[in-house]
Amino acid sequence: MVRSKQQWDLWLELQKAIDNAPSITPCTNFPDLFFGDSAIGAAQADNRMAKELCQKCPITNDCLTYALEAKEEWGVWGGMTYQERKRLRRSNGSTRKTAKTV
Ligand code: SF4
Repeated sequence: MVRSKQQWDLWLELQKAIDNAPSITPCTNFPDLFFGDSAIGAAQADNRMAKELCQKCPITNDCLTYALEAKEEWGVWGGMTYQERKRLRRSNGSTRKTAKTV
């Protein structure tokens, strides 16, 4: 995936939030569960489990804000799949404001 300068800046901002989190983010231990290939059959079960783990993450809102603003097109970020994030973006043009109120 090629990232724009803006996406890299957003990514670095998320990395700072991860570094400063009071505990490890769940996806650190199970990256394939969150960011695996959605074409694989077990994707729905993986998405459900990943979304549950996101609810226990100390930076859920930061992560969702990143994914919305960077327009991540795959993976579970901030407790939402790509399709859910797409619907959220459509329902509210201000992604940062929306993510902080979810
Ligand atoms: S919200 Fe989910 S995807 Fe984002 S850092 Fe936390 S565990 Fe990982």
